[in-house]
Amino acid sequence: MPKTGNEGLAEHIPPLTAHEAFVEANRCLFCYDAPCAHACPTHIDIPKFIRKISTENLTGSARTIFDSNLLGATCARVCPVQELCEGACVLGSDHKPIMIGRLQRFSMDHAYSRGLRVVEVAAPTGRRVAVVGSGPAGLSCAGELARRGHSVTVFEKRELAGGLSTYGIISLREPVEASLAEVEMIRSLGVQLETGIELGAGLTLEDLNGRFDAVFLGLGLGATTSMEIAGEEHVVDGLGYIEQSKLTPEGPKTGRNVVVIGAGNTAIDCATIARRQGAPQVTMIYRRSEAEMTAYLHEYDFIKKEGVAFRFLTQPVGVVADGDLVTGLRAVRVELGEPDASGRRAPRAVPNSEFVIAADQVIKAVGQQKPALFTKLGLATERGYIKVNEELETSIPGVFAGGDCVRAKNAASTVMAVQDGKLAAEAIHKYLRRAEANHG
Ligand SMILES: Cc1cc2nc3c(=O)[nH]c(=O)nc-3n(C[C@H](O)[C@H](O)[C@H](O)COP(=O)(O)OP(=O)(O)OC[C@H]3O[C@@H](n4cnc5c(N)ncnc54)[C@H](O)[C@@H]3O)c2cc1C
Ligand code: SF4
Repeated sequence: MPKTGNEGLAEHIPPLTAHEAFVEANRCLFCYDAPCAHACPTHIDIPKFIRKISTENLTGSARTIFDSNLLGATCARVCPVQELCEGACVLGSDHKPIMIGRLQRFSMDHAYSRGLRVVEVAAPTGRRVAVVGSGPAGLSCAGELARRGHSVTVFEKRELAGGLSTYGIISLREPVEASLAEVEMIRSLGVQLETGIELGAGLTLEDLNGRFDAVFLGLGLGATTSMEIAGEEHVVDGLGYIEQSKLTPEGPKTGRNVVVIGAGNTAIDCATIARRQGAPQVTMIYRRSEAEMTAYLHEYDFIKKEGVAFRFLTQPVGVVADGDLVTGLRAVRVELGEPDASGRRAPRAVPNSEFVIAADQVIKAVGQQKPALFTKLGLATERGYIKVNEELETSIPGVFAGGDCVRAKNAASTVMAVQDGKLAAEAIHKYLRRAEANHG
């Protein structure tokens, strides 16, 4: 049985001790043209930061990480390293790959625990940029622009900054404090942060275009998608459920027989929290098969060890409730047909196969909606995501975007949002210089 309650949701990978980090760093072969650095979406010079750990130059190591990725502390905790840097480590085929994520966290913890400010900021350029959204994409873009001497204001609709790093990623991987420490680091570069301000509700794009020389949108995605099933009002929203586990001392209200709908990483996080909140029975249900699951393999292995049960090829059709009390989930059995637009085999309900799964709580984790705001702002979209060109500029000149809100292809991740923010900052910097040259 896993640990339960708040203790059960404490960061589960412990930091390396100085001795462990030193030994691990000395295992690195310091490859030339290292495959791990290519596999990292932000292209951190991994051999260089690890070598600096091996020579006990931890401040230099942190500086090397910040050179490529201002959100190195979050990425060290949340990156699916098995699929990225560590998956590419040449030692992985015969031995254990180097623990790159944990070494990165070691250097970042060194910098954060001592309040070291190792990122340098250029002289002021007099140019002003608005960043909307303070998730990884927005913070990365804001920090990279501040580094180049631009004056940056971040507008965030929520009370706390950090986006899904603060509100959405399970504390087991990233506690709120780690995310907020990173927000403070970005502020220390001179970035202004205004929370409780929502673009599209009071603040308009025209206001921003009038007051700033360029705009970056790191808006993320919206609320959990509606399943359009009977009794959906009784279903608990998975994102809200995770948020409560991060931000309330008692954690979310949890049943004893919980069904989680979905089989992606968010669904796995909800099932983990339910187990650690003490639910004796947690079942994940998914309308396709194990082969089509979108969760990372290591997450799937983890959740099976947590004692969570699975029902594949099962599609929910309605919630059974007695007043406000949920007693079950009506579902049908499913067969898989030809591949659909997602490239995965399309589920088809088996006629007359309806049955009821007993449950006293149903949580949905079936992906986030593409916000209607994108089109309301007058932006061109692609499959509901904001459309951008190779420079991450939207259909409105001077307005750039990145992160989950543009991720029409490939799975979204924190490190990809950080890289978008970095690339957009480079593009905005060039755009501002071009504008300056044209004016004179
Ligand atoms: C439950 C969950 C778990 C995840 N776990 C992982 C993981 O372990 N590893 C990983 O790599 N990735 C993970 N991801 C994905 C990762 O969190 C995202 O890819 C990443 O946060 C995207 O960053 P972003 O800045 O684009 O968007 P977000 O983090 O969503 O930030 C967008 C910000 O914009 C703000 N905003 C939105 N609209 C407005 C507006 N109109 N005005 C002002 N502000 C606005 C929002 O409040 C938010 O703060 C997870 C996602 C979820 C949902
Ligand atoms: S940012 Fe992520 S992918 Fe890149 S080196 Fe760090 S842990 Fe690996």
